[in-house]
Amino acid sequence: MITARLMRMIDEGPGLDWREKARCRGFDAQIFFPEENGEFSRAKEACGACTSKEECLAEAIRGGIAYGVWGGLTPLDRRNLRKELAVRGATAAATV
Ligand code: SF4
Repeated sequence: MITARLMRMIDEGPGLDWREKARCRGFDAQIFFPEENGEFSRAKEACGACTSKEECLAEAIRGGIAYGVWGGLTPLDRRNLRKELAVRGATAAATV
């Protein structure tokens, strides 16, 4: 879901504090970066309860990160989100 807060963080940056509160700290990174055609459900579950979810997603969108689960979204989810942001003219960072 695109919120005004998310759009602002995509444009201005999410800052650095969110990483301290990231729920995935200490998790096996492999669940967020599975092999091709791997399973994303464990990562999505972890992200679902993360208080840094929007910040993490904004960071991935701003950076054009193409791999892994960020903010609970898979690479395909993020591509679709960037298309939606581009349609809205939200930000240059959302360029598809
Ligand atoms: S949203 Fe997911 S990947 Fe991002 S910081 Fe939180 S737990 Fe980690």
